[in-house]
Amino acid sequence: MKPVLVVFSGGQDSTTCLMQAIAERGIENVHTLTFAYGQRHALEVELAEAIAKELGVASHKTLAVDWYRDITSNALMDTTTPITREEGASTPNTFVEGRNALFLLTAAIYAKSKGILDLVIGVSEADFSGYPDCREVFVRSMNETINLAMDCTFTIHAPLQHLTKADEWALADRLGCLDFIRTRTLTCYEGIPGDGCGKCPACHLRAAGLRAYLASKAPTEN
Ligand code: ZN
Repeated sequence: MKPVLVVFSGGQDSTTCLMQAIAERGIENVHTLTFAYGQRHALEVELAEAIAKELGVASHKTLAVDWYRDITSNALMDTTTPITREEGASTPNTFVEGRNALFLLTAAIYAKSKGILDLVIGVSEADFSGYPDCREVFVRSMNETINLAMDCTFTIHAPLQHLTKADEWALADRLGCLDFIRTRTLTCYEGIPGDGCGKCPACHLRAAGLRAYLASKAPTEN
């Protein structure tokens, strides 16, 4: 089985991708890479490291992108900025400019050094929050770019690309890790793991997806 590098934040999406990669390829073929880029809560990085260690992935690396905050600003990195979406704005103010392009290029450089050509990223355009770098067209273009840049044949896998949050919970359930993902991952913009603050946009999306999935199951199963 070919090895794979999962871009791993410790959130619901990338943890679901990680679990799927482990189920498909075996833990010995799964490597994780976490970026510490000045996101609101350092806890996110700690949780990612703890999950990678607990699951026993083949290797885990945390990379500090500590200059990111010097060149851009947004509500995800700046805790003094409230999370909002301005009327008419194309993206919410939590959008981090260029993040997935930067992460995928960096992941590809690192992966190549380890002889890994398969990359996984947990982006989805189904519950599209207006993030341009979550779109399939971006992922395909980035795949072509890194192949050209390094004269290599990488494959970027984005298994959640067309899944809604409800679909994603269904996938987690099929993988036998719904409770793990529900309780151990951090998606909340306020930095509260598990079910989170319940109020921020990330919590709303996550909770609505879970409700929709649980409602879609037979009542006797709930
Ligand atoms: Zn929240």
